[in-house]
Amino acid sequence: MATSPVYTACPIWYAATLNRPTGGWCHKHTEKMERQLIRKLFPSGKKQFLASVLDYSGANRLLRHWNSWSGLLVLNYHRIGDPLSCEFDRNLFSASQENFEKQVRLFQSCADLITTDDLQTVLKANRGKHILITFDDGYRDNYELAFPVLKSCNASALFFIATSFIDSPRFAWWSEIAWMIRNARVKSIPANKWFDAPLEIDEGYPSQAIGKAVRRYWNLRDDETDAYLSSLAQATKAGRCPASLAEDLRTNWEMIQEMYKAGMGFGGHTVNHPVLAQIPPSRQREEIAGCRDRLTEKLGTAPLCFGYPVGQAHMFTSETKQILQEEGFRFAFSFYGGYQIPSRQDWLDIPRCSVEYSMPQVILNSRLTIPQIFAKN
Ligand SMILES: [Zn+2]
Repeated sequence: MATSPVYTACPIWYAATLNRPTGGWCHKHTEKMERQLIRKLFPSGKKQFLASVLDYSGANRLLRHWNSWSGLLVLNYHRIGDPLSCEFDRNLFSASQENFEKQVRLFQSCADLITTDDLQTVLKANRGKHILITFDDGYRDNYELAFPVLKSCNASALFFIATSFIDSPRFAWWSEIAWMIRNARVKSIPANKWFDAPLEIDEGYPSQAIGKAVRRYWNLRDDETDAYLSSLAQATKAGRCPASLAEDLRTNWEMIQEMYKAGMGFGGHTVNHPVLAQIPPSRQREEIAGCRDRLTEKLGTAPLCFGYPVGQAHMFTSETKQILQEEGFRFAFSFYGGYQIPSRQDWLDIPRCSVEYSMPQVILNSRLTIPQIFAKN
């Protein structure tokens, strides 16, 4: 068990981890229990109240310069910009460009904002507060809006790329689902093979329906996904999204190469962005090795980092991790909340938590001082 000053700062977390098994149980299991405990003790309303108290009392500012935690806090971004100008999934926006810059400077002021090259050293370190910024899916705004900010702050980030989306720009399933629901010509999709209950589409606030339809996709078998998208196209009466709209959505290889030369890190995110646990091991290997080969070809160096598509705990398996290791990846990042404490030895399931456009500043501030509570999704 780690013996960092965190225990004096957060007795609840200490109590939650006192019985952490040292062997036998996988850490996914123990962390799930911790997440449940934190959720029970601090439901989101209470969490926000606590964050407000910490922030307005000045405690966050004090804790920022104190060793209230140690380890690696990995933050996940998708898109930078204005969600209201987007026809696709607005939930993917993490910050405006202005706020992103404020956030980068905030991270630099209270922790060691690391680069991909620092990962191994940081993961072996027993002390220190480290933050890594990551971006998923290679959106064009990562190049146009995030990259200039990172350069001006003399900072770096790690970008996970699903290579086929760069090779032939097209919509990913989540973008297409969002587009179909946002352009639906019906107010409700009746219960059908895919939905047990009608899917209500609120014209003014379609995000809820988009979320439900995206989550439904997560649990589909690989051979069901196309039929599901076609059924949504029909049920929404929106049709499939025109491919021409995808042209400006992604970065291209020239942009990626420019960013790489300027010190940004790049990692694999498969070729086609499937949910890996839903496809057989042979296809998982193709997806993993395929993106590694393409990135190697374009950047001249084999990537060591990998981001699991979608990244929830049940979306990759021990077999996936084994394949990653065999294909030369050393660090893999999940996306179900939490942060990497120094005693956590698994480098193929490094936790990440999301930064969201609508996230109150007090929550982000508190995450930087007590991630034990505020980095839980
Ligand atoms: Zn992704």
